[in-house]
Amino acid sequence: MTFSFDLAGKTALVTGANTGLGQGIAVALAQAGASIVAVGRSSMDETERLCREAGAAFHSVQADLSSLEPIERIVAEAVTLTGRIGILVNNAGIIRRADAIDFTEKDWDDVMNVNLKSTFFLSQAVARTMIADEQGGKIINIASLLSFQGGIRIPSYTASKSGLAGLTRLLACEWAAKGINVNAIAPGYFVTNNTEALRSDPKRSSEILGRIPAGRWGNPSDLGGAAVFLASPAANYIHGIVLPVDGGWLAR
Ligand code: NAD
Repeated sequence: MTFSFDLAGKTALVTGANTGLGQGIAVALAQAGASIVAVGRSSMDETERLCREAGAAFHSVQADLSSLEPIERIVAEAVTLTGRIGILVNNAGIIRRADAIDFTEKDWDDVMNVNLKSTFFLSQAVARTMIADEQGGKIINIASLLSFQGGIRIPSYTASKSGLAGLTRLLACEWAAKGINVNAIAPGYFVTNNTEALRSDPKRSSEILGRIPAGRWGNPSDLGGAAVFLASPAANYIHGIVLPVDGGWLAR
């Protein structure tokens, strides 16, 4: 075997790791051997317990990613705590639902700030450290099916996630030669807070389920394999992809 999925000795910084997909990803990276720095604005206690049960070192950094204010502090704290960041997972994200005709500037700006602007500038700050010590690393953006499709009633979310797919490709092109792999995962429909409104609407819920070839919604642990793969040496020659993990939704 000339490739490895082992993340021992690496530190993964995961944003929005207190719940949902971020928690699932943090636990999977921990199980593959990474130390975890969980970044977010809520208690990380549950994620800490799960990562420690997997045998991983765990730290948390409290930060609100709705502005750029905490970015430098996040990176400085993570480097102080662990030595270096080898893996960055840009998972924190929000969604606002309203018809495009009624959509407000606030719902546009709030979503773009977290999903796209903070993601870019945190990636920039982490990449500077990866480039400075010439050891490179992995950046994984959590995109969406709305990176490929239009959707309805989520204009800023679709714009942010379509933008994130483009940004993933641009950063891959600029940083590949610097030893940084920038890729994205596009989750399908997963059981998290993000999809609560859809799941509690019987019509939307059954329409969505009826289109998923796998016949079920995803669980956060379903993303783990893709995250570990893209974070690992096995993905060293993979740059700029948006990998759907969607139960076959896009194949339909
Ligand atoms: P979630 O609402 O459970 O989790 C979102 C996470 O982002 C939480 O940890 C939250 O605290 C964090 N976050 C939001 N705003 C923040 C801020 N200002 N500062 C710091 N952290 C902040 O939903 P989720 O489904 O787990 O979402 C995780 C990511 O996956 C998001 O980027 C979302 O767009 C994406 N996604 C989810 C689905 C799905 O079906 N659930 C599908 C495609 C993409």
